[in-house]
Amino acid sequence: MNYFELHKELEELFEQNGIIEIADIDWIMVQVLGVSRGKLPFLKDISLSDEQTIKKIATLRATHKPLAYILGESNFFGRDFAVNNNVLIPRMDTEVLIETILKECQHFGKNKTILDIGTGSGAIIITLALELGANCIGVDINEDALAVAKTNAKKLGADVQFFKSNLFENLKSKKFDIIVSNPPYIETAKINELDAEVKDFEPHLALDGGLKGLDFYEKIVRDAKYFLNKNGMLFFEIGYNQANDVSKLMEKDFEDIKVVKDYGRNDRVVFGKLR
Ligand code: GLN
Repeated sequence: MNYFELHKELEELFEQNGIIEIADIDWIMVQVLGVSRGKLPFLKDISLSDEQTIKKIATLRATHKPLAYILGESNFFGRDFAVNNNVLIPRMDTEVLIETILKECQHFGKNKTILDIGTGSGAIIITLALELGANCIGVDINEDALAVAKTNAKKLGADVQFFKSNLFENLKSKKFDIIVSNPPYIETAKINELDAEVKDFEPHLALDGGLKGLDFYEKIVRDAKYFLNKNGMLFFEIGYNQANDVSKLMEKDFEDIKVVKDYGRNDRVVFGKLR
């Protein structure tokens, strides 16, 4: 079977099951066949065993299971992170959070200290550790998520300390230059409206932000001042409609509050400097 024949069959499978991410067919083939995407159309004779493996993965994808969970990895900021259903799959939009921090924090010089709250796969803090060479800590309430984060730090050679903490609870009197968080921010009632890929497979612990989706912003903003050094900065990923609410929450303790949009032109990051 050649590429086009196999692609057509799998396109039908995806269509029947309401899977719109047709590009995933190519990504499955790339993974199984070990060739770059651009080379796929030139494949004239895919072996029966490769064809069967590709079909098996595609059939699993047709159940709406995200490809990242099937393959066990996801690319974030140019690096492959291990993922499983205990952690949110790193989103492309979250790369805007990284870019914002890299841009805003040049003035901290070396030996920055950074805390990531609700670290999940560790994608954010590991990327910052590797890009900035900073002194980094990631905390999460979920030990299964921390296991994934530790695996990723080891695999990518990042020096990050991970430990269990419900927000700031186990941080004692540690202080940081930067606190970053992509907390759960979906309104509880809206979770059922999310794509099947998200609501049926990703951990609700990492999505559910309470009645208005703001629970974790309220708690983190309330305590952040006790854990930030002078001139310290707080960076949040936010939902597309939360820029005003989160900026308002920050106004009392933070100044120079700014909002940054993601690649889809939605508000995605809010940050500010401790007063
Ligand atoms: N960005 C995720 C989504 O849209 C939500 C992430 C979060 O709640 N922190 O599904």
